[in-house]
Amino acid sequence: MEVSPVQLLIFQPTPFCNLNCTYCYLPDRQDKRVMDVDIVRTTVQRLKDEQLVEPEVSIIWHAGEPTVVRRERYAEYFSAIKEVLGDDHEIVHHFQTNGTLIDDKWCHFIKEHNIAVGVSIDGPDYIHDRSRKSWGGRGTLDKTLRGIAALHRHSVEFHTISVIGEPSLDYAKEIYEFLVSLKPCLLAFNVEEQEGIHETSSLTNRSDRVERFFQELYEVAREHAFDPPVREFENACGSIATGGGSEFNTQIFPYRILTVSVDGLFATFSPELLGMTSKAYGSLEIGNIKTDSLRAALRSPKYEQLFSAIYSGVKRCEKTCEYFEVCGGGAPANKLFETGSFDVAETRFCEQSVKIPVRIVLKDLETTLAGRGKAFPGFRPGEKVRRLGPWDF
Ligand code: SF4
Repeated sequence: MEVSPVQLLIFQPTPFCNLNCTYCYLPDRQDKRVMDVDIVRTTVQRLKDEQLVEPEVSIIWHAGEPTVVRRERYAEYFSAIKEVLGDDHEIVHHFQTNGTLIDDKWCHFIKEHNIAVGVSIDGPDYIHDRSRKSWGGRGTLDKTLRGIAALHRHSVEFHTISVIGEPSLDYAKEIYEFLVSLKPCLLAFNVEEQEGIHETSSLTNRSDRVERFFQELYEVAREHAFDPPVREFENACGSIATGGGSEFNTQIFPYRILTVSVDGLFATFSPELLGMTSKAYGSLEIGNIKTDSLRAALRSPKYEQLFSAIYSGVKRCEKTCEYFEVCGGGAPANKLFETGSFDVAETRFCEQSVKIPVRIVLKDLETTLAGRGKAFPGFRPGEKVRRLGPWDF
């Protein structure tokens, strides 16, 4: 198979996180190791030498909390990347952060390096503090709001990502209005997933309520003329407008996403696979950047095993699912963590995070086409879009 350049490079600069959110899927959040600069340098050198890098490169620093790593270390990472790639590449760095450590110094750094920022925040205190806790068990909303206030003081634009769990389901309007009052540039909602060490989701068997939540969210977002945009409805609109099946699915082709761990292990397909093992496939990384060529890793038995199971799962989707054209075969990580296999089609995740938003937008479009409403402002037929994942915006 022809391998196209990496669209999204994700570095996990440390497994450590200063918070202990109840739904987190990451296993080693008290491990304080920090990525060596050589791992970053070797990764981009391999990408360049193996012609797997685009003129524009998006790099996400994520999992655990990126701001527990010192700014000086990031300055070293960034200059190593610049040294290797030179001025021919436009590099955009992204931080997905819990916001609790963001202060004036971080804001200066973020502005200096033009870092795109996403803040994880679930809603008002009676939602956020139930799940997003410190290691001592206390709620963390006040600290996250302090971080957001610092971002505003320095005019740093940010988006929000909110996890929707069972406690959120009756509060769509309250969550929306709370988040909008923080003036983010975009809202994103991740349904609570059964993933990694988080082996059950509070949304299991609750798809009806999830649908009501998203419907209410849609209504209130429409009252605000979808300003700020809501990622789930933008994604749904883009997918309906373009179709395209698996072509836009970043998680089912090699190296559309490349994820590198603190010690140089690398994985492709869904970022959540890195560092995990499964009964069916063993460990899910396909090499170590210190010793393995990226292209050679695609000829390894491990890669072959993963790809053939993922491909077979996508083919099942294509045969059985009427949403295939707008979904493209789903997220391998969710298939694996929910069922133990990549070689399946429907999951709870795809019902709640793909089908429900698509149904809601389609219903609205049908009303519009019947002349009974106003078109969804995000609907742009024919425009080519990249479907956005739970880790980005
Ligand atoms: S919605 Fe689910 S079953 Fe349908 S194509 Fe996507 S992942 Fe497959």
